[in-house]
Amino acid sequence: MSETMGKVAVNTGYYSMEIQEYPVPEARDDAAVIKIETFCICGSDQHFVKLPGTHKGGTEGHEFMGRIISLGKDANKTLKVYGGELKVGDRIVVYPHITCGKCDTCLRFGDGVCGVCDDDYIYGGVFDMDTGKEMNHVPEQWPHFKGGFAQYCYLFPGTYVWKVPDDMPGEIAALLDPCAVAMRAVEQVMTPIGGTGEGFSTTSRCLVIGAGAISIMTAMILREMGAKQVIITDFFDEKLAKAKEIAKVDEAVNVADMTSDERVEKILELTEGGAHVVINAANHPSTCIEGLRMVRKCGYYVEIGNAMDFGAHYMSEINIPAVVFEKNAHITSVVANTPQCFDRSFEFLKRWKELPFDKLITHRFTTLEEIIPVMKKMGDRDFIKAACTFED
Ligand SMILES: [Zn+2]
Ligand SMILES: [Zn+2]
Repeated sequence: MSETMGKVAVNTGYYSMEIQEYPVPEARDDAAVIKIETFCICGSDQHFVKLPGTHKGGTEGHEFMGRIISLGKDANKTLKVYGGELKVGDRIVVYPHITCGKCDTCLRFGDGVCGVCDDDYIYGGVFDMDTGKEMNHVPEQWPHFKGGFAQYCYLFPGTYVWKVPDDMPGEIAALLDPCAVAMRAVEQVMTPIGGTGEGFSTTSRCLVIGAGAISIMTAMILREMGAKQVIITDFFDEKLAKAKEIAKVDEAVNVADMTSDERVEKILELTEGGAHVVINAANHPSTCIEGLRMVRKCGYYVEIGNAMDFGAHYMSEINIPAVVFEKNAHITSVVANTPQCFDRSFEFLKRWKELPFDKLITHRFTTLEEIIPVMKKMGDRDFIKAACTFED
């Protein structure tokens, strides 16, 4: 009997991915194997591909869902399942992190707090090439399938998963990770730090910088939670039109032809004195500096967009007394997230029949070979989110 072979797209260099084939493993007693149905491409996936030169050959893709084809006898104990017992044939979506459980962060804040764990394994998310560890991103090494840009994925013990309702499209379920980033950003501004009542409320005027998938979902959540005003900014009218349609924002402002001072002035005018909540999902240091100037006193600034430095070593100058001290704003980010926040996000996505998440997907494709051509379109005026759904 011949072994089943599966394909995995391996990041091998600047805008280069090699499709490699490996035998599809059986799940050990404590694990599961899924056949991937849909994966989405994240901005960070593109960043890894844009790194210059040749790359060591790692697995990418952390936004994915699929169907269980092999389930270890103990997997219902070793995997952490939202939605009841797992069985072969179930569709699931995956929390892309497995935390170590041993570092100071894990011991202090509990299992599953990703991004700040000292030894956080990310499916397809970073290139951990330490072949001495079983959980690495080396595709040659068993179990070969370690990320979403592949036909299969091996799920190690400790992985959190959600059962996907039969009628929920795979591309909606695969939005779980970016949706959870948006949810976490909004939840960050709900904390009544300092006890002066400055947390998010129905009186909050909110600004989201950038009109990508995470930004638009952030605006959707703010809208659903009853924000007084939701403003979104971007450089492209096509994206702003989408934000208006999907998130029903009050104002969608094209700031492409404005100077930095003009942008700040415009937001101060629209919000009558500054936004109570500024969430920056644009990936340039200038958006952070402008965003900090757009926050109202005792407001909130949440950083999403300037997520990874990738060797650019941008240094930025700010007037600390004016921007930090005088405003008493709460400045935070979303790098730490939790399975519980993902769960709230999954409940939000389950409202897909009423909320038009499908309109976020502007680029659909069906093969691993199309990843690079699609990634080259990620700067296009009409690009919001790409999803690959395999045909069989
Ligand atoms: Zn992502
Ligand atoms: Zn840890």
